[in-house]
This record gives sequence, C-alpha cells and structure tokens, in this order.
Amino acid sequence: MPSLYKIPIQTLNKVGPKKAELFRKLGAESVGDLLRIYPRTYEDWSNPLTIEEAVQSDVCCVRARIEKICPPARIRGNMIIYKVIAADEYDHMNVTFFNQKYTYEKLRSGGEFLFYGCVRNNFGSYEMTSPAVSDTVSSVIHPIYPQVGTLTSKQIENAMQQAIKMLPEKTNDPIPRDLREKYGICNLDFAIRNIHFPVNNDAAVRSKKRFVFEELLILQLGIAMLNRGRICAVSHKIERDYTDEFLKLLSFVPTNAQLRSIRECIDDMLKLEHPMNRLIQGDVGSGKTAVAAAVCYTAVKNGLQCAFMAPTEILAQQHYESLTQLFKASDVHIALLTGSTTAAEKRRINDLLITGSIDIIIGTHALISDDVSFNRLGLVVTDEQHRFGVRQRSMLISKGDSPHIMVMSATPIPRTLALMIFGDLDLSVLDELPPGRQKTDTYLVDGSKRHRIYGFIKKHIENGNQCYIVCPLVEKGDSPLVSAEEYAESLKKTVLSGFRTEILHGKMKSREKDRIMNEFASGNIDILVSTTVIEVGINVPNATIMLIENAERFGLSQLHQLRGRVGRGKDKAYCILISDIQKESSLERLQVMCKTNDGFKIADEDLRLRGPGDFFGTRQHGLPELKTARLTDMMSLEAAGKAAAEILSSDPELEDKRHRALKFEVQRLFSFETIN
Ligand code: ADP
Ligand code: MG
Repeated sequence: MPSLYKIPIQTLNKVGPKKAELFRKLGAESVGDLLRIYPRTYEDWSNPLTIEEAVQSDVCCVRARIEKICPPARIRGNMIIYKVIAADEYDHMNVTFFNQKYTYEKLRSGGEFLFYGCVRNNFGSYEMTSPAVSDTVSSVIHPIYPQVGTLTSKQIENAMQQAIKMLPEKTNDPIPRDLREKYGICNLDFAIRNIHFPVNNDAAVRSKKRFVFEELLILQLGIAMLNRGRICAVSHKIERDYTDEFLKLLSFVPTNAQLRSIRECIDDMLKLEHPMNRLIQGDVGSGKTAVAAAVCYTAVKNGLQCAFMAPTEILAQQHYESLTQLFKASDVHIALLTGSTTAAEKRRINDLLITGSIDIIIGTHALISDDVSFNRLGLVVTDEQHRFGVRQRSMLISKGDSPHIMVMSATPIPRTLALMIFGDLDLSVLDELPPGRQKTDTYLVDGSKRHRIYGFIKKHIENGNQCYIVCPLVEKGDSPLVSAEEYAESLKKTVLSGFRTEILHGKMKSREKDRIMNEFASGNIDILVSTTVIEVGINVPNATIMLIENAERFGLSQLHQLRGRVGRGKDKAYCILISDIQKESSLERLQVMCKTNDGFKIADEDLRLRGPGDFFGTRQHGLPELKTARLTDMMSLEAAGKAAAEILSSDPELEDKRHRALKFEVQRLFSFETIN
C-alpha cells in the first residue's frame, strides 16, 4: 500500500482541516495510515436474538416490533426522556432513550427494528436503555473504532468506506505467499477489507489473526535488525578488571549471583570484539544496583564515562545517593541530571561532561536531551529498561561511539518473551537474594478486615517499622476506587490517626516528591499513602508492610513490583491485598500472589492468564506501539518469531524484492531513519 501512504487524509470526502487534525491524533495522516487503524471491536447485527435470548447475553442485537410509542417527557432541565415498548413473539421490553430525538423519530408503531445494547431484567420486566437502532434491512457487522475527541466511530467508518474503495486492484502483500501458506495467514487484500467490514465473524477473526501475525513479524524483524546493527560496531575494549578494588568499597558481601553477573559483564567488555549488550534480569531486591555500580567502576577506571538512566526522578535520585555514598572513598565523580535540574546546573554539568570530569552521570530521560554530550561515553546502563522506548535507549547510545550496554530489568519479563523481544541480547540472571531476607507473607482479604489490619500496622509502627499504602487513583473522582488523598484523610479517624502520614503521587512537583521520599527513607514518615509511583525501584529497608487497596486493579507483575518495596531489610515483611471483588477468576489471579514470591513464576502466570497482549498493551516493554497484538496469543508470537528467523537467514538485509514491502513496514514501525 505504499502509495496510499502518500495520499493525505483530507482527500477524503467530509474530511476538512479540523477533522483531519483529529484523524492525525488517531495516527492517520494519510489514507494508507487510516486503513491501518483497526476497529476496537464490532457490533454484530448479523444475527439478531429474541428478547429472551438477549437477557441472557451481554451486549447484543435484538429484533423486535414497536408496540407502543409513549409521548416524550421532560424530566429536568434539558433532559428529555423517550420511551417505547417493543415486543417479539414471546416477550416485550421497555426501551428508553435520553435526548435521542433523532432515533426516537425514526421509530414507527408496528415497524420491526434492530436494537443493539444490553437487555436487563429489572424485577421481571425487560429493559433496554439507549440502544443503537436500525431498521431490519441493515443487518451487518459494524466496525467500532477508537474515538478521538469529537470524531465518532461512525465518521471514521465513513472515511474508511471511502479508503477501502481506493485500494488498488492488486495489493502488494508484505508477507510473501509461501510464508502465508505455511502459517495459515490470509492475504492482505482480504484482511484489510474484512478487518473493517467483515462478511462474517470468521472473516473478522482471520483478518485479525493476519494483522497480529504481520505486526509481530515486523516487530521481530525490526528488533533483530536493530540489534545486529550494533554487533558490527567496534568496541571500547577495557584493559583491566577493577572488581576487587570495588568490593572493598562495598559494605556487604555480594551474593554469588551478583559476582557472577559482574564477571559476565566485565568479561564482555574485556574480551568481545563488539560492545557488550547484556540484560541483567533479577527479581526485586536481588541487588541489581550493586552490579551496575561494579561494572561502572571498572569502566570508569578504564577511562570511560558512564550514563545511568532510570525511569523516574525518585529512582534516579535514589541511585545517585547510593552511588555517591558507595564511591565517597574513591575518586569517582558522580552527577545527577533530571527534569528538575536548574538550567544553570545543567550547563555546569554539561561542561564537566564534555571535559570528562564527570565519570558517571545518573539521570532520567533528561540525559537524552540534545544539549547533553559526552567526552568518551563508553557504558550506558538503563534501569527498568522496559519503561524506555527502543528509540530513547538508542538516542542515549548514540551519544557515545558504540558504548557498552547494560539493561536492568526488574519486572521479570517471562523468559520466552524476553528471548523473543530482546533476541540476541546476552542474559545474566540474579537468581539469588541477599542473605537474611525472609519471605514476604502475603494475604488477600476483603474490606471488612481493614480495621483489624490497621491494628496490625499500628503494632509494627510502634516497633519502629514503616508502612506503604497503595491506592489506584490520585484524586477523588466519580469512580468508586479509593484515592490516595481521600484515603490519607480517612486514616485520621482510625487507630492510625496518631502516626505521621504523607501522600505521594505522580502529579506532585518533583521537588515535593523528593522531599517526601527522603523523609520516608530517613524514617520521619510512618505511613506513606501513595499511587503506583513507588512501584519501581524505591529502596527503604525499614518499611515492612505493603497494603494495597483495590488490588484487583493491578496486574500481577505490578503487584509483585509493589510488594518488592518491602522485605528489603532484616525484618519480616507483610503484603496485604484488599479487594472486594467477587469474581472467581480475579480472586484466583490475586491468590497467585499469596502462593509465591518468585517473580518469574508470577510473570509466567500473568502471561498465562492475560496473554502477552497485555505486555504490549500496557507498553511495559519499550517497543513501538502495536495495534493488534493485544488480541494475540503466545502461538502467534512464536510463529512470527520463527517466520522472522527464516526470512533473515536467507535475506538478512531484506534486500530481496519479495521482501520490499516488508522492509518498508519494518522501517515505518521503527522509523530507522530517525534512530540512526
Ligand atoms: P534491585 O535488584 O531491586 O534493584 P537493589 O539493588 O535496590 O535491588 O538492592 C536492594 C537492597 O539490598 C539494597 O538495600 C542493597 O543495598 C541491598 N543489597 C544488595 N546486595 C546485597 C548483598 N549482597 N547483601 C546485602 N544487602 C544487599
Ligand atoms: Mg532497582
């Protein structure tokens, strides 16, 4: 479809400059882009149900005849309520519309219509509220698109119909025919028509499957090509290992897993002909920071500068403090650069970086900014890598001359997925926790136990420990979910009223966040009521209780991260999950947390329960955004991985003309031209 990418969206009928702007927000600059905006879901009007069948289903399409049309009634202000009674052979139902004059006027007494929505049983009478209505003729499957601002799904559908008509007779399918046959994938022309306007359900499913496969194939080709590009580069070899010297600075004895990981990194830098490209995967609390510090130390002693990038300011600050402390008896110079560093300080730091007087710069993605340059950047460490985009990482890397790369991941990406996503990244696993750590006991309770738990927390605080309470939202909204601010307020009426409580959330100024985190770390705050901003990396060993409200709102891997904030010191720690949800499957999911503390098991379980789609969906991986992969399963990921390997083994640069369209799509997804 390359040529359709050159036709601006405004060419379409009824798409003026204003609408075009909304289409652009949706990701559609051109007609080609538009065709790649897939429906979020469908309304299936092709198979209408009876009223009785509809009561037993979710949202669906019902066929009924209009028995009676009631006169409109004004209930308050501008609200007008329209009621009709509709019936089929067996039952009748009340249908209510609010302010939908247009729909109401379409209805004729005695006429047969299709209603799309949810039929409820309200004490024996069947009801439908604000359904979509159509006369019986148009019984088809309708695409429902993601909405942006005032741009409705209907308007997108209208534009899409025009776009489909512009498809050339013969589309150039990026997936070569032999691959399609081998993996049971339908062709592009069929898929593009049927993902938007499916002839039946099966066609929609097959089309979706094709785009999932295509997307994962392109993703894996792109990753493989990005990684390979690096491998050809010349490296900053180092001369000597300074780990023994480093260990003298360390206040604890490293675990064997830490020693092994340090060794593996340093061997890469000493011996490989290409730069190190290593993923350090270790469960929360396994001591990844010390490994990074050790590797930085040897790099610095060999004359290299290091950049250490963390995903949040709090975390960058904390790394800065622990490394400053660790290196205070050495001559290693460290600086911190984040979004809240003042302009003057930034200039000063940058001058020192260029002259090479700063050895290790720690920071957030502020490090990527154009005005940051280095003297001899030789090692790039990214903590919690999955939070950064492939591009952000590449931009930092490009500030050095093929620097060594170390990526630390705390959310354990399931092994199968990691291998596929990171391809030929080497892997070090910290499979051992520092000695003396006790298992964090985890309990799942409902809200009725809350006050008993407060008593338990009180006892711990009186013993000198601290507590985290995590709530899903920041401010009070109309959602029933507990918000951090409200929550902190409500604690004043409980046994916890006498303790020092503070709140922490992502919308606070970073200076304020830092202040609170520092006070919590130094023990001046007893209870920290927070949103998930504390999820990554924070280290306060004296905190021993993690209470999580509305636990059902969080993914398992996220809960594991949160739980990892406690159990980091010598004292026994507890994690309490509060949830009033009654759904069996949600409870089963939360029970996984009570059964194991092993992050890998949890991640695998998460993957089993939710499918890898959510890894893509929540953008936990730092890869380009995928549009359909959310719908996928492990099978397509594996199949696409195999197909990618097959293609690259015979045509590593995608130069074959059979692969031209594929290469075009890979470049589009990764925007290579802006990376390199
Ligand atoms: P994570 O892997 O989650 O990033 P950190 O690097 O933050 O873990 O380490 C967690 C805590 O464990 C820190 O307080 C750190 O000082 C401590 N620690 C790390 N390694 C050891 C060790 N070998 N012995 C004792 N404590 C350790
Ligand atoms: Mg960490």
